Amino acid sequence: MKLDVTMFRYITKEEFRVLTAVEMGMRNHEHVPTPLVESIAKINRSSCYKILQNLLRNKLVAHDGQSYDGWRLTYHGYDFLALRALAARGTLTAVGRRLGVGKESDVHYAQGPDGELVALKLHRLGRISFRAIKEKRDYLRHRVHASWMYMAKLAAAKEFAYMKALKDEGFPVPTPIDQNRHAVVMSFVDAKPLFQLRQLQHPNQVLERLMRLVVRLLRAGIVHGDFNEFNLMLDEDEKVTLIDFPQIVYNSHPNAEEFFDRDVRSIVEFFRKRLNIEVQEWPTFQEALEDDREEEVSGGLKVTGFKAEEDALLVAAHEQGRAHREDGAEDEDEEDAEEVAEEHPDEHREAMAFQPPARPAVQEGLQDLLAAGSRQALE
Ligand code: ADP
Ligand code: MG
Repeated sequence: MKLDVTMFRYITKEEFRVLTAVEMGMRNHEHVPTPLVESIAKINRSSCYKILQNLLRNKLVAHDGQSYDGWRLTYHGYDFLALRALAARGTLTAVGRRLGVGKESDVHYAQGPDGELVALKLHRLGRISFRAIKEKRDYLRHRVHASWMYMAKLAAAKEFAYMKALKDEGFPVPTPIDQNRHAVVMSFVDAKPLFQLRQLQHPNQVLERLMRLVVRLLRAGIVHGDFNEFNLMLDEDEKVTLIDFPQIVYNSHPNAEEFFDRDVRSIVEFFRKRLNIEVQEWPTFQEALEDDREEEVSGGLKVTGFKAEEDALLVAAHEQGRAHREDGAEDEDEEDAEEVAEEHPDEHREAMAFQPPARPAVQEGLQDLLAAGSRQALE
């Protein structure tokens, strides 16, 4: 079943209440028992049951009735809650078709309050991330129940925090607008990812820009960790915009040098393979840190609202996903696969592909949502 935002206009206040109750229950339960949903939502048994059935039909929740009578939120349900919150805050007025497929996200055209085009990134974490999570169960403790939601939300929060800090330091990144749950709203970048370009008008200049950027980031205190043709966008003037930040590490991270070298190498490789340019010299970690020809960045990036343990978790998940993709390996971890079977990102991608409107794309449902009392949040 496709996620159709037109259903936004049909959801009642009570349905929203119950959906939110399931989300709250998931902080402590993998499947939230029906009586707990009733008590959190403060809705009597028979209406709660009907509402849950309705939410189930719309695939906003899933039910496990075999071993246990319990409810959980699906990715659809989580999308719904995030979009609804963003709409209620006025940061989103419409959502359109998917514009980019990343490895761990869906990015959509969307519309801001003044009709401006913005990008909406919904973080998805692949099956592979779950192995990393399991290794860190100590830190996660009870939150492991909500692992995919928890990880996707962490990724969004980190992305938003770093985008803000980078923007404030004058780095060429999208302008962060808002974040809720696993969703990030940012300015739309009218440019193409480098991997889509067959040729460059001024390849040497672009190369120079990219190397300066990677060095400047290091001198500001961070390594991007995925600085490559998929996350570097070039506009018509071949000006660069860097995107995708959940895997960033500080330059003091034990693997910072390794990640930095890998970032630099991926540019060198891209120029060699795609553009037939043999790069002769490239910056090393030490040189970049010591290079006093480069301007100093004012005391490093100030990133707030993000815990070190959470950061470690995301970086571990990212590295694992990366190793997995490089191996081209199938997922051997059956248990994990089961855990996320219904939320497999590829299936979800289908589900998210609603009617493609002409660009700038808008979807009516959210506008209706705005009109139809979206401010009735659960108090
Ligand atoms: P992932 O973490 O899944 O790799 P990205 O942040 O790299 O996600 O985004 C995936 C794709 O979506 C990008 O390659 C790009 O084509 C597109 N995209 C992402 N952010 C924007 C934006 N702000 N404006 C325009 N396109 C974007
Ligand atoms: Mg990316």
